[in-house]
Amino acid sequence: MQENIPLPTNEDVEWAYLLWNSMTIGGLWTLPNVGIYERTGEQELTLIEIHYSKPLRDVISSPFDQHHWIMILADSINWKIEEKVKRAYDHDLEINIPDDLIGDVSICKSKCGAMFRVEPLASGTKYSLIDEATTCPCCGKKGSVEDELKGIHVVVDDAGWLLKESRLQLKKIIDEEE
Ligand SMILES: [Zn+2]
Repeated sequence: MQENIPLPTNEDVEWAYLLWNSMTIGGLWTLPNVGIYERTGEQELTLIEIHYSKPLRDVISSPFDQHHWIMILADSINWKIEEKVKRAYDHDLEINIPDDLIGDVSICKSKCGAMFRVEPLASGTKYSLIDEATTCPCCGKKGSVEDELKGIHVVVDDAGWLLKESRLQLKKIIDEEE
């Protein structure tokens, strides 16, 4: 969770209050770079679609980019935000996560330390597409991912890869010094 999110101002709160109350129940509200919310109750919105359009390690350019900020805003006017994500898009490409693969875990066949996990859709989670050549998103070697993950969005756990990388960097520095 980001810690540098500015708190909603009185104007933000007023804006949300007016906007959300003007929606009919079942009505949709699209927030660019975040997704689509549906009004699902008197004081309830549900996030039903996620739109990713920013690179992995971006800084926040606007508080409106953040679903989390919306939750803080909602809290200040006693609205509830639920999450029932049915679809997600990454740069206009629909994120593909087959139900029967959820929970599957595999590792990079090139043994770079990367792990791939099939996880259900949730806001704040970053997914990587495994391409046709089953290229590992960490080491970039082709044919490194199980064929069944081809064309599927997975969550990449790069902790092992980062460890190996930092050891390699260290070894390089030591070798150069000798
Ligand atoms: Zn790899």
